[in-house]
Amino acid sequence: MAGRISQKDIEEVRQRTNIADVINEYVPLRSAGGGELKGLCPFHDEKSPSFTVSPGKGFFHCFGCKEGGNVFDFVQKLDSLSFRETVEKLAAKLGLQLTYEDGGPSNEESNQRARILEANRAAADFYEKNYETDDAKPGRALLEARGFDLESCKKFSIGWAPKGWTSLTEHLKSLGFSDDELVAAALSTKGERGLYDKFRGRVIWPIRDQSNAVIGFGARKIFDDDTGPKYLNTSETPVYHKSQVLYGIDLAKREIAKAQQVVVVEGYTDVMACHLAGVTTAVATCGTAFGDEHIRILNRILSSDATNPAQVIFNFDPDEAGQKAAMRAFNDASKFNAQTFMAIGPDGLDPSDLRTKQGDQAVLDMIANKKPLLEFAISRSMSKFDLQSREGQVGAARAAATLVAQIDDAVMRGVYEKYVADATSLDRSSVGQLVAEHGKSIRRTAVSNLRTDAATPTAQAEDAPPPLNLNDPVIQFERNLLMVMIQLPEACSLELFARIAKANFSSPLHLALARVIYSERSSGSDENLLERCLAKLDEAQQSTLRELAMMPLQAADATARLRVGQGIINKGLERTIDYEKNALRGQRRQAEAVMDEAAIAEVDRKLMALTTELHALRSRR
Ligand SMILES: [Zn+2]
Repeated sequence: MAGRISQKDIEEVRQRTNIADVINEYVPLRSAGGGELKGLCPFHDEKSPSFTVSPGKGFFHCFGCKEGGNVFDFVQKLDSLSFRETVEKLAAKLGLQLTYEDGGPSNEESNQRARILEANRAAADFYEKNYETDDAKPGRALLEARGFDLESCKKFSIGWAPKGWTSLTEHLKSLGFSDDELVAAALSTKGERGLYDKFRGRVIWPIRDQSNAVIGFGARKIFDDDTGPKYLNTSETPVYHKSQVLYGIDLAKREIAKAQQVVVVEGYTDVMACHLAGVTTAVATCGTAFGDEHIRILNRILSSDATNPAQVIFNFDPDEAGQKAAMRAFNDASKFNAQTFMAIGPDGLDPSDLRTKQGDQAVLDMIANKKPLLEFAISRSMSKFDLQSREGQVGAARAAATLVAQIDDAVMRGVYEKYVADATSLDRSSVGQLVAEHGKSIRRTAVSNLRTDAATPTAQAEDAPPPLNLNDPVIQFERNLLMVMIQLPEACSLELFARIAKANFSSPLHLALARVIYSERSSGSDENLLERCLAKLDEAQQSTLRELAMMPLQAADATARLRVGQGIINKGLERTIDYEKNALRGQRRQAEAVMDEAAIAEVDRKLMALTTELHALRSRR
């Protein structure tokens, strides 16, 4: 299944896609002169635009938060897609048929996926249109009673599956979908007398993925004669895998990325209630427990910045099943690049009921009153013991110790040992003893494997040099030089480049960038220079180089730009000559010390040549 898209196709998609058009669909852009565009950055909160898009260079860069990249990076980050999904999405926009190398989905498979998605979209439209019919009255009544009026339902494209046996099936067949396609999409079921609708007489929630495609449906029972379960979801299809489905991710993903927070609730109406109340980061799993695949999806959206961890807030029904789910989430906590919390409504109300009974603010308050998941889980584990009795105290401490022992962080473990000691009135050392008994075997086995494949080079971040002082005139000048070197390679011959680079770069970061530009240019072509250089750099270096490539070279036209660029290069050359002269003077002193007349004459000749060069350079200004 996991075939690679051919490099040639990736390149074609990149070149044929106008980055400004794509970004403009997400962020309104306005012209900033010089062919560049500006807008408010979607990756951080800002009031004046520092987010810059250069269609000519095919890049975007935010001067505020340093986020940047090409069109793939943008769509990938904002839509939280994999690279492959991103290329597929942009290729579909261009109407380009991708070819896959070594074992990608066959054309047949990808055609089937595409047909299923089309059928799902048509079905979603059909269901939604039916929501306002008389037939749907009982469904509307149920949602209205829960505080979801017609307008709110529209926001979530709520639909209605008619009671008749074949309404949807016939509709989709009239649109040209085959029996096989409808069965493959799990929209219809094959019976003895032909196909019939899978969902009948139910309220329908279309379920979308991160790229907004309808991948399946959730359906709630309305009529007593419906013998099916209360909630029925699409069964597994080539596009619907319940272990990976997060209902509401299409609406929430941008807010999740922006706020670095996600609220995990239990049901469709809970997601609706949260979003309508203003908790716009809410998602729900569909008919399955929250698990590893969900974490993987969320980890793609949540940043892994250890100094500013994201927040994952669970809201579970505090009944036994909910408690189990909380414990599982607790055990999964280390798999998140995030801090985990639990938020429980007053009297255990779920967000939907809470909003109906107490209003939007109560839902917001519930989230605001979240408790660390550890604290929640530990106090739950002790709650079934009678803490008035000695036996109860020891039992509670023992139960809590199994959880405390799983805490990786030693300081945190100490904090919770004290918490348990206080709650059970046992002394700290007894609790510590219990924790130690459990700890040896458990600790570190739960350490996440996700963290290692999440490509977060934390070690590298720790080793990173301190940030450059951008007010330092030397650093500023080095940046100007690099800016010209990457933006206007024609302003500086390769030979000159080598000479200037040797003398001018004090910062290891700048030197590394200059080296890469030089080595790429020495391959003989300046075509796609930026792209080629970026491919050779690590993330921090890429960000700096992109920023330099996007920095506006203030000039009226191309000729003037070149003149400005050459001016900067010439200044660099002046400094280079100074540096070279200093080096020669050192050589001259050595030659004098050993009275090597020939060497002294040679150095003098070189010094003279440099002085002449410097005069010529200055007179040209
Ligand atoms: Zn930004």
